[in-house]
Amino acid sequence: QTHAINPDLLIIGAGPGGYVAAIYAAKKGLQVAVIEKEELGGTCLNVGCIPTKSLVKSSEICHEIKNSSLFGITTGSDLQVDMKQVIRRKNEVKEKLVSGVGYLMEKNGVQVVRGHASFLSAHEVKVTGENSYRISAKNIIVATGSRISKVNIPGIDLPFVMNSTEALACEELPKVITIIGGGVIGMEFAFIYRNLGVEVHVVEFMDRLLTMLDSDISVEIMCLAQRAGIHIHTNSKVSKIQRADDGQAIVTYENSEGEHLLVSEKVLVAIGREPNLEGLDIEKAGIQLNERGKGIAVDKQMRTNVENVYAIGDVTNIIQLAHVASHQGITAVNTLLGESQDMHYSAVPNVIFTSPEIASAGLLEDECKENGLDYRVSKVSFASNGKALTMNEPEGFIKLIKDNGSGQIVGGSIIGPDASSLISSLTLAIANGLTEQQITQTIFAHPTTGEVIHEAAFGLGIGALHQG
Ligand code: FAD
Repeated sequence: QTHAINPDLLIIGAGPGGYVAAIYAAKKGLQVAVIEKEELGGTCLNVGCIPTKSLVKSSEICHEIKNSSLFGITTGSDLQVDMKQVIRRKNEVKEKLVSGVGYLMEKNGVQVVRGHASFLSAHEVKVTGENSYRISAKNIIVATGSRISKVNIPGIDLPFVMNSTEALACEELPKVITIIGGGVIGMEFAFIYRNLGVEVHVVEFMDRLLTMLDSDISVEIMCLAQRAGIHIHTNSKVSKIQRADDGQAIVTYENSEGEHLLVSEKVLVAIGREPNLEGLDIEKAGIQLNERGKGIAVDKQMRTNVENVYAIGDVTNIIQLAHVASHQGITAVNTLLGESQDMHYSAVPNVIFTSPEIASAGLLEDECKENGLDYRVSKVSFASNGKALTMNEPEGFIKLIKDNGSGQIVGGSIIGPDASSLISSLTLAIANGLTEQQITQTIFAHPTTGEVIHEAAFGLGIGALHQG
């Protein structure tokens, strides 16, 4: 038996794009249905942002306990990592949030339809699952997210090779791990494993880590990673993975000096994610892809080429971040309600949960150079910040970029303690076109790591007050 539903708005996918759009639309008075084939919360809550951060926390505790004697705290007994409990706690956090999304759906009267959605036409979708549905709606938002890219490396299917989802479920802590890919996911895992005491090798094809960041930040994190004992192999291409006689993994990589071998217990492949269009039959609705053929093409208000069909989040392949997906979801709902506003990407915060954390918003210095902008940069380190010293985290710096013409702050990067929280103030400043003076005239609490933002703003004018 096929059930028929006719909501005002149908959303395919309940990740941070889809579920936020659903709540927002329901609050705006629309009858909303959401189709989800796996768990509510999508990649972010189940196998992305949240589970990784739970592991980051466990690994940081491990690292802090190892270094606790410096703070006058000695623990006495041998340090043990119970990986089963690390994963169990991660699951508990995830389940709490996933059920919270379920509660919000119910509370806001959003109908959750379980199953796999595929288009029949521009306004009709079929759902296959435990029950079958045919859903027609005037407005449809595609929010199917992304999936792990398939990589063509010989040996990729060997049992000790994991992707990020498998790593998040792995209850054994390897002694040695090789991570292929020095991007965001690869580097977050590199620090997780290292802080848990694992020997870590990262093999990266490009000449530096985290290529979406300014080069000085990449250099800084590379130095800090190496100081933490992570082995980094840049300019290196993995050519194959093999199984040794003793069951260990052998990863072969090539660089300008020739061929090298890395032996490890596990291999984590963190090479990237691609828009999830599998079995969605978008061609039946006439929905077009972007020029690169990757991701659904959308305009600034999240419309696809098909009237009343919108796409948001990772499936558009614009920026793969949860908060961007949510914001695009709200934009799409506003558009279909005739309250349209453009999406702006000039002040999107980007955080990487390494140790220390990294965050950036707005323009990079490298982009300013390329675009020939008349700009000034100020860089202030955490080394003279009282709070950072009490935390024993004096590494890193904050960098602000000012447009000389307008005096406005157009970009900022942070590598150091609390970067993930501090970036919110910088984002507010950049998004609202605050000037260097407006920041220097603001009172920052003492002693906090945020004072470095204040100092960096002074650095754009008369010079930072606490630096020689
Ligand atoms: P998704 O979260 O992928 O959700 C899409 C949903 O659609 C899924 O639940 C899927 O099951 C469902 N779906 C797909 N096809 C169908 C279909 N045909 N029928 C029914 N349902 C379907 N981002 C951050 O901002 N911060 C972070 O710290 C961060 N860390 C990450 C760590 C890892 C390891 C990974 C993998 C990602 C991380 N991300 C992070 C990225 C973030 O998870 C994504 O950008 C975000 O989840 C995208 O949201 P979305 O709603 O577009 O898609």
